[in-house]
Amino acid sequence: MQSHVLRISLAASYLVLSLSVRAGETFSVDSAGGRLPKNVLPVSYSIDIAPDVDTMTIKGKESVELQFRAATDMLVFNSLNEKLSEVRLDGKPVKSVASDDEEQLTTVMLTQPAAIGKHTLSFSYIGKIETHPQGLFIQHYEQPGGAKGLLLSTQMEATDARRMFPCWDEPAFRATYQLTATVPSKWATVSNMPIARRKSHGSLTTTTFQVSPKMSSYLVEFTAGDLAQIKATRGGRRFGIWAVRGQEVNGRIALANAQTILADYEDYFDYPFPLSKLDSIAVPGGFNGAMENWGAITYTDQALLVTPSSTLEDQQEVFSIQAHEMAHQWFGDLVTMGWWDDLWLNESFASWMAEKEAEKRHPEWHSKELQDASKERAMRADARSSSQAIQKHVTKEIEATNAFDQEITYDKGQAILRMLEAYLGDDSFRGGVRSYIRARAFSNATTADLWAGLGGVGGKNVPQIAAKWIAQPGYPLVTANASCDSAGRRTVTLTQSRFLLQGADPNHERWSVPLQVRVGSSRPPEAILFSEDGQKVPAGRCGEPLSLNADAIGFYRVRYDAKTLESNTGSFHSLPAGDRIALLDDQWALVGSGKESLPSYLALASSMGGALEIRAWEQIEGALSTIEYDERGASGHDAFADYARTIIKPAFDALGWDEKSGETPDVKRLRRALIWDMGAWGDPEAIAEARKRFDAFMQDRSRLRPDDQSSVLDIVARNADGPTFEKLHGLAKQSRDGAEIRRFYGALMQVGEESLARQAAQIVVSPEIPHQADNMRFQLLVLLAPRHQRLAWTTFCDHQEALLGPLEPFGSVAIAKYVPQVFWSGIPMDEMEKWIRAHVPAEMGTTVDQGLQAARFKLAEKQTLVGAADTYLQAGTRTGHPLH
Ligand SMILES: [Zn+2]
Repeated sequence: MQSHVLRISLAASYLVLSLSVRAGETFSVDSAGGRLPKNVLPVSYSIDIAPDVDTMTIKGKESVELQFRAATDMLVFNSLNEKLSEVRLDGKPVKSVASDDEEQLTTVMLTQPAAIGKHTLSFSYIGKIETHPQGLFIQHYEQPGGAKGLLLSTQMEATDARRMFPCWDEPAFRATYQLTATVPSKWATVSNMPIARRKSHGSLTTTTFQVSPKMSSYLVEFTAGDLAQIKATRGGRRFGIWAVRGQEVNGRIALANAQTILADYEDYFDYPFPLSKLDSIAVPGGFNGAMENWGAITYTDQALLVTPSSTLEDQQEVFSIQAHEMAHQWFGDLVTMGWWDDLWLNESFASWMAEKEAEKRHPEWHSKELQDASKERAMRADARSSSQAIQKHVTKEIEATNAFDQEITYDKGQAILRMLEAYLGDDSFRGGVRSYIRARAFSNATTADLWAGLGGVGGKNVPQIAAKWIAQPGYPLVTANASCDSAGRRTVTLTQSRFLLQGADPNHERWSVPLQVRVGSSRPPEAILFSEDGQKVPAGRCGEPLSLNADAIGFYRVRYDAKTLESNTGSFHSLPAGDRIALLDDQWALVGSGKESLPSYLALASSMGGALEIRAWEQIEGALSTIEYDERGASGHDAFADYARTIIKPAFDALGWDEKSGETPDVKRLRRALIWDMGAWGDPEAIAEARKRFDAFMQDRSRLRPDDQSSVLDIVARNADGPTFEKLHGLAKQSRDGAEIRRFYGALMQVGEESLARQAAQIVVSPEIPHQADNMRFQLLVLLAPRHQRLAWTTFCDHQEALLGPLEPFGSVAIAKYVPQVFWSGIPMDEMEKWIRAHVPAEMGTTVDQGLQAARFKLAEKQTLVGAADTYLQAGTRTGHPLH
């Protein structure tokens, strides 16, 4: 699963479970976590639903073949908002049926114990169509011409299949599913499997789909509405891209992507995709992200469709999300984690695989370098004492929410896999992955099963190295102290401790660190395992550049002794891109933790000169923007903004405003980013040029390509007066294209002037935003918030339902984790904390703590950075020396 709009994670229901998987055990049904008893297992479901959108109800009939592993007179399974009737076992009435919505359980008592063996449970039920994406839900939308429509779709992960049909709704209960649905005849229907038969009766048609392979309930999919598809056949398999009728043509790029990616994955896994078709369904708005339902992947429309107004970044996102969801067809669907503890076996692998695929098919995107940004996000989150391990203890179903943690489960997990892969070698790692998939196909797995697959590959003890990275939070700071012998040979002595932005690690954790050591600027790195404090490593000659994290692959930081740092800074311009990135990332983090001084970082940043490396510049922009934001309202602000502009100016001047032929996508992206910064940091020439280009664009819309619009429009909006604001607002209101709607409304939120900001805040919650863009509202407010904290906070508190409803089941996570990080600079911490704790379930306490800790750190960091930046600039002014 992937969250598209905010990359926020998934909430689940609030249930108490008795068991969780014990780390270290390979999968078995009996030891798998969960709450339902394992004495009865579902084998095959036959589910027949008739949803009625007028009454918002589901009329259902269900028959489940069960395997009784012991004689019993009691059946317990999940249900929510369903009323069961005509309940029978093997055709005979049962003694009693009790459904408890609080517990999300139904208990059936039999008149007498049924014997070991197969039995069939059957019943009718009335259920509910949901208005948020949980279970079977309704989605309203508007067509470009203004016509209104609706469709039905599903979102089951983690615990919402039970809202559409009563079931054993835990991942370890694999069973086959045969779905039958009766909907209006003019509607198209899509599910995991191809259609077996259709039968029309008047205005309604009953569709029965083929029987699925054995799978977990959270992967069941059903979508119905006025949809159309474009399709292709490759390798005897049908690929379909479905969208609201009229929009399907925008699926052409996705259709080509799907075929390429599937063929690449079959090759990588050496295991065929087991279904005869793969559908991808664009659900307009509301539904937030993408979900890997086996054979029928659902996407929010913006994550699948590419229109003529989409940017290159939009297209990259489409590819990357498709590659992620399709990787789940193996990691997740074919082999499913036994319980939510091991969610990383789904998500980390899907993210890792998606990056690999982007690198393979689009090397010009420099995905590996850009991936460093997500690794840094993870390292920042994981440098707090409240951080959790990748493998999480999940004892309550709501804690599955915490397991869908973007920074840790997705980004850190992915980075750890990449580090292991680099250490073991690509071929050895692939061999291990293949044997894991083969061994666990059509079944479930735990982390121990993965170690069994990878164990011993390349003669290296993988479990011993990897287990700690997965099972304990945090990561090491490797400290390197160089010494020179009389012949000029250098030896580095290594020590490690957990890297924390604040405080010290009371547990003194240690890791086996797979270092990639490069001496000089061009030699290939050497893999060295660092596990003992005091370990000595030969490191070339004194004065040569040294990287202990070559190509920035490792999930650790390095602090060099002063002399080595000096050599590295001196040779900065000649280092390989990845080594520079690692140095920038680490030095900035060390400044944040108070271990290094701000000037030591600025010395690196100002050594970039005119080098055109996207990720390095993104890192620098991020750091300088942090200080610039912290300086707002302080006396040193303008001096710092001037200084920040001088750092990026050489690269900005080298690029200019206009594209040159033959430029790669990352260079174009860098140009847009630097233009944006120059505007944000108040460069008068950049503001004047942006206004000129905006005026030309208003005369003739072809004057700015979609890719170039945001940087120009954002600068104009930030400096807008009333009439300019109205022009921008007009653009947004007139647009009928999803990509444009997001871009134009996004620009409006950049406004600086207070009275215009109040208008912008009203727009965020106004009905002028079409239904399919409802999931954008909260994101718009997040864009408004940096400059207008109190206004945005009041708007958020007053309209919480409208803003977060479309993000369900993500709403509580957005409040707990992200709200503190949005409002930290203007809303007193105790006021915010009180509000947050009153608005999320008590079980989310850990997530709230994490959000608040991040916000408190930002406040402390602000103090330090503003002081350090002012001192640095004043010293430069006093001495009259250049500030670089
Ligand atoms: Zn996923």
